[in-house]
Amino acid sequence: MTSPTPLIAGNWKMNGTAASLSEAQAVAAALAGTSARVAICPPATLVERAAGAVKGTALLLGGQDCRAEVSGAFTGDVSAEMLADAGASLVILGHSERRAGYGETDALVAAKVEAALRAGLEPIICVGETLDERKAGKALEIVTGQVRGSLPATLAGKTFSVAYEPVWAIGTGLTPTTPEIEEVHIAIRATLVEVFGDHGKTPPILYGGSVKPSNADEILHAAEVGGALVGGASLKAEDFLGIIKAL
Ligand code: PEP
Repeated sequence: MTSPTPLIAGNWKMNGTAASLSEAQAVAAALAGTSARVAICPPATLVERAAGAVKGTALLLGGQDCRAEVSGAFTGDVSAEMLADAGASLVILGHSERRAGYGETDALVAAKVEAALRAGLEPIICVGETLDERKAGKALEIVTGQVRGSLPATLAGKTFSVAYEPVWAIGTGLTPTTPEIEEVHIAIRATLVEVFGDHGKTPPILYGGSVKPSNADEILHAAEVGGALVGGASLKAEDFLGIIKAL
């Protein structure tokens, strides 16, 4: 079996102006010799400028969401084609802040994944349970259900990743225990193999939720953890590099 190539992606969320590009440049400059694939997903307004600022380096750029349609009367939205045109090669889809704040369903996330593939973008598809769902003993059921519902069959053989992000761990400083992370990642891998056969063995399964330099080593070396999706700690190059170096 081919081992998943690790991916560390930083989600800047709605943070960053031109002044923040120096952080992306500092990350890019430190990547030589790193075996991981590393990406920063800045706000859409910065993708093109970030692409220019890190041109010629190994740092990849991604969007944080996209609309499923190519173009049209969708005020304020951005299509996958627009992100690709701006210099993105990846896109985060189905983040819990979009599922909860914008009512995004698994079916809509799957349509966005199709859009990403159409535009040549590599999707990072987020799944994760709420605290109530975990307390009710439903974490595995919820997460594997989201994997089945949000990943279209056309992903078979394509490059993509799944990010397990327990909603209660995002931005809270709380993290699941290592056995809890492993239990979910192993269940996601089994679901990927069930759905995609051998193709399900290669996509990295990222962990996301309060990853920081101090806990990265343990999290990144847990079973079936193939990288991280990092929010707050990706905003400063020093913190983000501390996580990358833990791989
Ligand atoms: C995220 O929003 O994807 C995330 C993981 O955030 P944080 O690292 O800040 O918890």
